[in-house]
Amino acid sequence: MGVSLSTEARICCGTTKVGAPCKNSIKFQDIKTGQQQLANLATQPFDFLTLRSTLCDIARNFLCAKWHRQRQADQLGQQWYEAVVRSRGYARHTSEVAAVASDIEADQSQRSTSGRPSEPVLSSRATTT
Ligand SMILES: [Zn+2]
Repeated sequence: MGVSLSTEARICCGTTKVGAPCKNSIKFQDIKTGQQQLANLATQPFDFLTLRSTLCDIARNFLCAKWHRQRQADQLGQQWYEAVVRSRGYARHTSEVAAVASDIEADQSQRSTSGRPSEPVLSSRATTT
């Protein structure tokens, strides 16, 4: 399977205010929990009604508690959700989650400062700053 989220991937998936990857470290335990949840998700039949909120929950584990866990979990979950949906809707569920999981890792190493142009979730961002 393509799930390659290794134990070394212990940095935050969040984005700083200037659009750079956060790279704050995350507790190993949190990452592990997240990986487990993704693995569980991959073994279950997909329910697109709950998928997004599930992914948002899981996303928390990949965000630093200091800055992004509260603020970007929904955003990250939404991104994953869209990635799953976009990558072909209903077919082949398990591999979709696997793809998302490996995407997380790729995202961390490859992401540049290229902003994502129109993120719908951003518009509803709370003013927690
Ligand atoms: Zn962070």
